[in-house]
Amino acid sequence: MQKLLIIEDSPLIQKVIKHLAATELNCEYDLVGTMVDTVSLIDKNNYFLALADLSLPDAPNGEVVDILLAADISTIVLTASMNDARRQQMLNKGVLDYIYKENRDSYFSAVKLANQIMLNKDLTVLVADDSKTLRKYISTQLRKMLYTVIEVENGQQALQALNQHPEIELLITDYNMPVMNGIELIKAIRQKRSRNTFPIIGLSSSTDPTLSAQFIKYGANDFLITPFIHEEFQWRVLKTMEQISLFREISNAATKDYLTQLFNRRFFIQQTEKLLSDAKRNNTELVVGLIDIDHFKSVNDTHGHDAGDTVLVQVAQILMQVFKGFTVARYGGEEFVVSIQKVNLELTLKYFEKFRKLVNETRFEIQGENISISVSLGVAKLEDESLIPLINRADTALYDAKNSGRNKLIVSK
Ligand code: GH3
Ligand code: MG
Ligand code: MG
Repeated sequence: MQKLLIIEDSPLIQKVIKHLAATELNCEYDLVGTMVDTVSLIDKNNYFLALADLSLPDAPNGEVVDILLAADISTIVLTASMNDARRQQMLNKGVLDYIYKENRDSYFSAVKLANQIMLNKDLTVLVADDSKTLRKYISTQLRKMLYTVIEVENGQQALQALNQHPEIELLITDYNMPVMNGIELIKAIRQKRSRNTFPIIGLSSSTDPTLSAQFIKYGANDFLITPFIHEEFQWRVLKTMEQISLFREISNAATKDYLTQLFNRRFFIQQTEKLLSDAKRNNTELVVGLIDIDHFKSVNDTHGHDAGDTVLVQVAQILMQVFKGFTVARYGGEEFVVSIQKVNLELTLKYFEKFRKLVNETRFEIQGENISISVSLGVAKLEDESLIPLINRADTALYDAKNSGRNKLIVSK
């Protein structure tokens, strides 16, 4: 596990940092007060980032920064000295940021920056710019933020890179490039990927004020006017990524069940409607299976509602494992639903049977006790009908499975 290293000798500030870290920091950290301790810790640990005070009892002139950078640890400097020349000197050395210790807020933003860097540190960023100097400057900033960077020289190369590297999660693009310019590039990307799922930051020069507006109009999430200072760059990138993850959270909340993280009923219906028109158009199979846990009320009554929740989560995990690649949802309470496309009925029944057996054989461990449960299943294959009648037939089959003894699968005729 990668950790954060905090270097600060003042006991008072140490106290503030400890307090902030306890409530705000999302990763483990070590706190030291001298250069000697720093050296011995970085030998033994794996730090992704350091917050470093410039004046330490055994290193009064920022010597610790050289040690950190030599060990390839991204470094944010925290200092009490308001000295512009010093600040520039540190930035030139390669520190990620330089934060003045003015008040509690400064530590707060340092911790926030550490969290953001931690959160995005495996991000791959594509940089498209025909100017080698600017591309290198941007890439260096991004690498300091622990991102993986891919560089290209024009829009066409950018499209190729996006095809070859599906792991790219952010594009930073210049406007003026040979072969294909930045706006054309954005238009091409936006035909397939929206602002909410794939962020783009445009770079526009201060000589053309209309460009930033165009960038936004054609689908960039943000823009930067060159030349820019490194703080602005950093925070625009971080803000853009923050918006994307907020959107992801919101859209998860709208499509997923909070307890099991399976899709919810509404999303299931939406998805399966699409699968159904597809199946009708191409004359392919579609099978829907409804699953209900047997005598689940007695699990709650005997072991409590929390134990019931744990069982639901584990059943959902088994479902995801058996029906990987298919649409699995929590239909309500202790009822689940799966739709399977382009697989013949016989084979889908094998999947459902496998799932029934697996649940029956699983010992669900609840508060040190092993609980056994079973599920009943009703399965229906698409005929000349719409979705609700199809689901209703699966439901009738499920009802029959319940009435004929439970722990079994019945297929709708
Ligand atoms: P059957 O075999 O006929 O399906 O019996 P059953 O007890 O499973 O069915 P019943 O519909 O009588 O009871 C379902 C129970 O599921 C009642 C309800 O409290 C419980 N339940 C529904 N949602 C949740 C949940 O989110 N968490 C927990 N712990 N229990 C839930
Ligand atoms: Mg039940
Ligand atoms: Mg039920």
